[in-house]
Amino acid sequence: MRISKLLGKTLREVPADADTVSHQLLVRAGMINQLVAGVYSYMPLGWRVLRKIENIIREEMDRAGGQEVNLPVLQPLEMWQASGRDRAFGKSLFTLYDRRERPLALGPTHEEVITQLAARYVHSYRDLPLLLYQIQVKFRDEPRPRGGLIRVREFHMKDLYSFDTDEAGLDESYRKMLQAYRNIYERCGLPSMMVEADSGAIGGKDSNEFMVIAESGEDEILYCNDCKYAANLEKAASVKGSIENGKPLPVEEVATPGMGTIEEVAGFLNVPPSHTLKAVFYIADGKMVFVVIRGDLDVNEIKLNNALRAAELRMATEPEVIEAGIVAGAASPVGLKGFKVIADDSVTSGTNFVAGGNKPDTHIKNVNYPRDFKVDIVADIAMARPGDGCPGCSGKLQSTHGIEVGHVFKLGTFLSEKFEAYYLDEKGDSHPIVMGCYGIGLGRLLAAAVEQNHDDKGIIWPLPIAPYQVYLCPLYRDGSPVADVAEKLYADLQAAGLEVLFDDREESPGIKFNDADLLGIPLRLTVSPRTLEKNSVELKRRSEKESALVPLDEVTARLGELIKG
Ligand SMILES: [Zn+2]
Repeated sequence: MRISKLLGKTLREVPADADTVSHQLLVRAGMINQLVAGVYSYMPLGWRVLRKIENIIREEMDRAGGQEVNLPVLQPLEMWQASGRDRAFGKSLFTLYDRRERPLALGPTHEEVITQLAARYVHSYRDLPLLLYQIQVKFRDEPRPRGGLIRVREFHMKDLYSFDTDEAGLDESYRKMLQAYRNIYERCGLPSMMVEADSGAIGGKDSNEFMVIAESGEDEILYCNDCKYAANLEKAASVKGSIENGKPLPVEEVATPGMGTIEEVAGFLNVPPSHTLKAVFYIADGKMVFVVIRGDLDVNEIKLNNALRAAELRMATEPEVIEAGIVAGAASPVGLKGFKVIADDSVTSGTNFVAGGNKPDTHIKNVNYPRDFKVDIVADIAMARPGDGCPGCSGKLQSTHGIEVGHVFKLGTFLSEKFEAYYLDEKGDSHPIVMGCYGIGLGRLLAAAVEQNHDDKGIIWPLPIAPYQVYLCPLYRDGSPVADVAEKLYADLQAAGLEVLFDDREESPGIKFNDADLLGIPLRLTVSPRTLEKNSVELKRRSEKESALVPLDEVTARLGELIKG
């Protein structure tokens, strides 16, 4: 491709609204262009990267035994109501009406459609296992589209669905997909980490995410070097430790004038925050829920929601707390009636906590569970922290950041039961098909590649997904033989099957080199009067500082070797 003809100009200025490195660099490199918030056009260079990622994914899905299909974007809303997931997706589901006033949704994912397809075509255990996938556009009305391609409203996604006779079959399909995913990230040249994840709105049981490790990643990962435990922050468990504070003593009321926060109360009574109980109030499906957790810990709302199974969960407002007759700043479950109480398991071990007295400026010492208060649910609802004990061994959790580039779920049978996707076993007995689903966001993967691979000058594409492999950069003034040599090289390299971006513009070396660095093409060939004196061209890798002269007649072979690896 000749740069003089290429659609998309490089920009020197950082776009004002670009809040991540990948967003800035992809826009500056002329690879993507925003239409409205969270909706982007791919320009020729960006689209070539996406297509390369797509090809790698397709090859790995086929290799794992997947069959490619293409399912409709337009889906009847009734399907979403039938599965109940219209509520789980809420406003993220794009909906519209056709001319007959029939409500439709733009597919944010395709479990409903594919389960209906399986119900129609799978009848016998002989039809299973089955792996179906597609690579297609999806729509989610994200509340806060951001980060360029990181969080968008229209996006390309590979989604595969597995259908098996039983849990053991699902485990096998799941294992196959985990391997396919590892292959994909490795082939894209992107170091990744598999972590335990929450299954969120999709539903289901086991769930794993694949993270591309990047400093700028929005997801925090907690992991253990000793036993390979890794989970995202939403899901991570940790050993909280028991707070030993002697034998249970009789409760004792103490005056705590003007002390409202845990820090104030703990400081006033001269105890560490871990010796106190904190009360937090939520509204779950319209009802007040009283949450109690050790004073040094914070509530993880995802875990809390999993324990409550609420369709809608939010923190209670101050007026709602007052309205409910709760004494904010001195609230505790001791002697409290009329609320659903959920406790983090941290409060059930340990003794002699300080808790609120449920009247102004009053706290109670020596509160012990279950002697002094009852709860409706005990669960792990705390946010794990770096430095906490690993749940898998005696090691300590560490923290890093990543970008989620893949998410896999064991769905089980809840959708096949809803859509009557049953099969007959050898004896003629009917069972629901056991399902799994496996997604990769292609644009997100592209952005993650940039987040992981860049410097202050621009992108450094991993070779397997680079838009072009070679940046051919002749430097000359009118009448120089350099132009002819470059034209011949351009033809020869392409004839050898290499992908070449030819900077045929009459620009200064500075501009050409800056653009080469910004675009991030892995191999740069510079032809100039100086290199031609030695009958050579200069070869430089984007990822390295040093360059080397390569004789003209060896260039094609040399580049071929580098690209083959
Ligand atoms: Zn461990």
